[in-house]
Amino acid sequence: MADSGIDHLDFEPAKLLCECVGCPGHGGDQCAAVAGFRVVVHAVNRCSQVEGGTVVALLCAACMTRRARQALDYGRQLEDLRERYGRPVVCSDCGAELSGTGAFWNVQPLADLLGR
Ligand SMILES: [Zn+2]
Ligand SMILES: [Zn+2]
Ligand SMILES: [Zn+2]
Repeated sequence: MADSGIDHLDFEPAKLLCECVGCPGHGGDQCAAVAGFRVVVHAVNRCSQVEGGTVVALLCAACMTRRARQALDYGRQLEDLRERYGRPVVCSDCGAELSGTGAFWNVQPLADLLGR
C-alpha cells in the first residue's frame, strides 16, 4: 500500500511546528511552538517571483499575533496613502488593489483546515 499520509492524520494530529524564524520573543531562532494558524500573505510587489503569488507560513498564536500587528500597521499605511493620493495602492507586480489589511493578509486556524 502506498503511504498516502491521509490515514495517519488521526494518529498525528497537527504536530506541525511554527515556521517562524526571527521573533525577538523566541530569541531570533526557529520558534519551537506548535503551529496553530496558516497565514497566507500576498507577496506585495514581487508576487510574480513567488509560486501562487503568496507566501504561506504555519505559525503559532504568538508569532501570528505579532505579524498580524505588523500587517494591520501596513494596512493602515496603505489607507493613509490611498487618502493622500485619492486612489488605492496597487501591487506593482500584479496590479491588485491593496485596500485594507484583508487584501494581502489572510489567516486560517489549522483546526478549521483539518476539520477539527
Ligand atoms: Zn516568531
Ligand atoms: Zn511561533
Ligand atoms: Zn501582486
